[in-house]
Amino acid sequence: MWNSKESNAAKMTGVAVFFLTFFGLLFVGSSLPLFSLARAQLASLFFADDLTPQEIQERYWGKELTVLIVPGHDNVDGGTSYKGVYEAEYTAKIGEYLYDYLKQNAHIKPILVRNRNGYVKEFADYFAREEPAIRNFITQARGRFQNLSSSGAVETLPPPIAHIRASSRTTKVLYGINKWANERDVDIVIHIHLNDYPRKAWNTQYDGFSIYIPDPAFPNYAASRGIAESLKNTFAKYWAESNLRLEEGTIIEDPDLIALGSYGTLRAASVLLEYGYIYEPRFQTELLLKEAAFRTYQGLLPYFGDTVVKDEFAWLLPYEWEKTVRYGALKNNDVAAFQSALLKLGFYPPSGSTFRDCPVSGNFKDCTQKALGAFQDAHGIVDEAGVLGYKTRQTLNTLF
Ligand SMILES: [Zn+2]
Repeated sequence: MWNSKESNAAKMTGVAVFFLTFFGLLFVGSSLPLFSLARAQLASLFFADDLTPQEIQERYWGKELTVLIVPGHDNVDGGTSYKGVYEAEYTAKIGEYLYDYLKQNAHIKPILVRNRNGYVKEFADYFAREEPAIRNFITQARGRFQNLSSSGAVETLPPPIAHIRASSRTTKVLYGINKWANERDVDIVIHIHLNDYPRKAWNTQYDGFSIYIPDPAFPNYAASRGIAESLKNTFAKYWAESNLRLEEGTIIEDPDLIALGSYGTLRAASVLLEYGYIYEPRFQTELLLKEAAFRTYQGLLPYFGDTVVKDEFAWLLPYEWEKTVRYGALKNNDVAAFQSALLKLGFYPPSGSTFRDCPVSGNFKDCTQKALGAFQDAHGIVDEAGVLGYKTRQTLNTLF
């Protein structure tokens, strides 16, 4: 997620960025009436009207809902990294899978901003061609904000005002995406990220997902909040929520993130998904990147009033287990599929454990060992202890 805020914040360390978020939240909590006033003024200044939740639902059922998928970072600024792999590579893969899922739904028109090769032509051309216009867009947005500020309506929004500095390349890309989305009547923007923090300086290990949404002052707040709640309800059935104290509550309002429409620059609803921390094993297990995309699709549907997906394991099944897998296997698709199958059958996480202790990860360690034992007991398999052996696979392949 780093570098996605206004340039001044992006130059600071991750610690500073999180503290800014923290203080921003405190401030919002103590000045809600003023924010409502600012919100009404912002909405009328920037757009003809708010994009309401009802309008989004109508667009969905009218088969014209446009969803813009923005894999976080790119091939120039890769975001954070773990063991030599940049966040941008993971987010591109999740984005590609998500595009494929949304494409299957006749009600949705998905647009992918970037894939693993880079920005798709439409956006690469747009950023180059529209650069002066994008700079102008940023200047105008800032000006409107300052006008509101001098009228007193927006003095309660310190982070967006305080952080403005000269635009970086990333700033232009992100505002460029907002501008494009406004021009093309995009309904929902989904930003895909993996989380991180200064691991060497901090002592604790964090994990779990979180969802960032616009500040209540912005015109796209209501729809973004609703979509985030819908996604959170689905994600929480399968993944741990972030245990970073500053992300308590899991859905975080942030006036500072350009991706969410800072300065009120985005009419579309926008959510920034931090699927988890980049070092969590599940992101190094290819199959589970596909799951991340599927859960996003699954989590969006209830918001439109559509029926929940029929098979919550459709991303996995059918699956064929062919090889013997033993304790100690890491980042392994067969293990990830096995854990997911046991989750579906109620054996995983093993009894007494949570998704935080025992995530679906692709790693075959104690959690999987315990769940495997329970599964084998239930099916009378006695001579394959600790091994995904022939009989166990046979049973699984019959069940799935
Ligand atoms: Zn990121």
